[in-house]
Amino acid sequence: MSASPQVEAGRALRCRGWRQEGLLRLLENVLTVGEDPDRLVVYAALGKAARNWPSHDAIVETLKTMADDETLIIQSGKPIGVLKTHNDAPMVLMANCNMVGRWATPENFYRFEQQDLICWGGLTAGAWQYIGSQGVIQGTYEILMRIAERHFEGSLAGRFVLTAGLGGMGGAQPLAGRLAASVILCVEVDPRRITKRLESGFLDRVAGDLDEALSLVQDAVAKQEAVSIGLCANAVDIYEQIAERGITPDVVTDQTSAHDLVYGYIPSGLTIEETMEMRGEPQRLIDLGRASIVRHVNAMLSFQKAGAIVFDNGNLIRSQAFEGGVENAFDIPIFTEAFLRPLFARAIGPFRWIALSGEPADLAAIDNLVLELFPDNQIVTNWIRLASEHVPIEGLPARIAWLGHGERARLGLAVNAMVRDGTLAGPVAFTRDHLDAGAMAHPTIMTERMRDGSDAIADWPLVNALAMASSKADLVAIHSGGGGYSGFMTSSGVTVVADGSEAADTRIDLSLNNDTSLGVMRYADAGYDEALDEAETKNLRYLGIPQYAGGGS
Ligand code: NAD
Repeated sequence: MSASPQVEAGRALRCRGWRQEGLLRLLENVLTVGEDPDRLVVYAALGKAARNWPSHDAIVETLKTMADDETLIIQSGKPIGVLKTHNDAPMVLMANCNMVGRWATPENFYRFEQQDLICWGGLTAGAWQYIGSQGVIQGTYEILMRIAERHFEGSLAGRFVLTAGLGGMGGAQPLAGRLAASVILCVEVDPRRITKRLESGFLDRVAGDLDEALSLVQDAVAKQEAVSIGLCANAVDIYEQIAERGITPDVVTDQTSAHDLVYGYIPSGLTIEETMEMRGEPQRLIDLGRASIVRHVNAMLSFQKAGAIVFDNGNLIRSQAFEGGVENAFDIPIFTEAFLRPLFARAIGPFRWIALSGEPADLAAIDNLVLELFPDNQIVTNWIRLASEHVPIEGLPARIAWLGHGERARLGLAVNAMVRDGTLAGPVAFTRDHLDAGAMAHPTIMTERMRDGSDAIADWPLVNALAMASSKADLVAIHSGGGGYSGFMTSSGVTVVADGSEAADTRIDLSLNNDTSLGVMRYADAGYDEALDEAETKNLRYLGIPQYAGGGS
């Protein structure tokens, strides 16, 4: 078994070009910032960077030796072979965890995984695009700010946010809550996760029990002090007890790993050790987990009834509860539909860049460039200022900003020019979350209740990946759900390396613009006014064929 890799930095190349070297550094980076690198797990219990260590090592060796006119093919984290292509073809094409419709079940996923036929790449884990907690800090922060605008006159100061789960993604919640000026209480069953978030500075305080937690909350609310508080306990028990005491938080959500009842979620009444021992009897754990989630979601619904703003933050907790018999679980809205859809309709979404040199100065230079290029974009300038001050660098220096159509390519081209003229110490990779306008079909997260009813249609991410490969991107990935997410989603990922060359100008221009164009067209086709407006004002060649009242025939 290989040791956990460290990310390479500096100008020295180990590969035959920066496109290969950049992708290799991104693979090293997801493991460096990931949760359990020894198991190749980046986040969400099972989201892996490669199928196993022999596959990982073969990917590394191949990236080191590949020529510019070759393409590495990866199937669910395992490198299959290298194809002779051409200089403008992607360096890496991957398909992770895609099972055929009716067979895309958790049971088949676990069976195929045991047989070493498949692995789940999460969204950005398997495609080596994860940048650590920042993506989810920013996503959570934006959700909280949209809630503030809509329900609390623009500010969460003096507001009580209740949530749970301090894992790979959920660990971002305390910092996001504090940046959004709220008082946030985070319940987590694993004391090691609490310690980790305290050490990283994301969590300010830890309460010994619920009484102490609520007294800290009450005090901070009264003083309108932004603070994050951790409490080590099972979320189910705590949510129920808070509800029983008649206390209603202002905002309630949850980010435990409810999507995975075998390897993630800890049922109420079991310790972590007992849960792990029971993994040999998956059905028993699934039953216990589901029964626990029924209570978890019923407590969330009772908060909603009492006036709290309650939302699902993408962990499938409502679906699990529904399966367990909570018929009104979907009264809790999903965050995308409730707060973010008007942004996605304009293809404004989680765009990212990573300084492959490892130099924090490169990140600072690009932060300044963004402030110069987009001074009127308040969401972006606000975040860049907050992030440069409060978000620690994890692994390679990276930034996220919710840029839209035209903005992404404009920034990418300006950065490529800075790589070319030596202003930056090295090349920069551009990528984005899969949860982006044109890149995901997920009927209980991204595409829930689309205006035209197209929630479950996976053509959009698939055609997005094809378009990215035709637009000269360096890495293109198609992922579907694994574990409890099996059958729930299909998404696509894209990465482009700005190495300062003219060829990179073309790759950036085509792939970043086509990615967002398709995103706008996806929402325009679903009938969103913002997207129709964006398509018109940005002169996109959206054809606008209306839904035919007589059906498809
Ligand atoms: P993770 O497995 O790294 O962490 C989950 C945490 O929840 C762990 O620390 C675990 O100890 C804790 N936990 C489990 N059961 C608990 C319980 N009953 N009470 C209290 N704590 C409990 O997972 P993650 O990467 O943090 O992701 C969390 C969830 O959020 C996943 O379902 C993931 O898929 C989802 N997610 C959604 C989005 C999105 O769409 N917005 C983004 C990121 C993650």
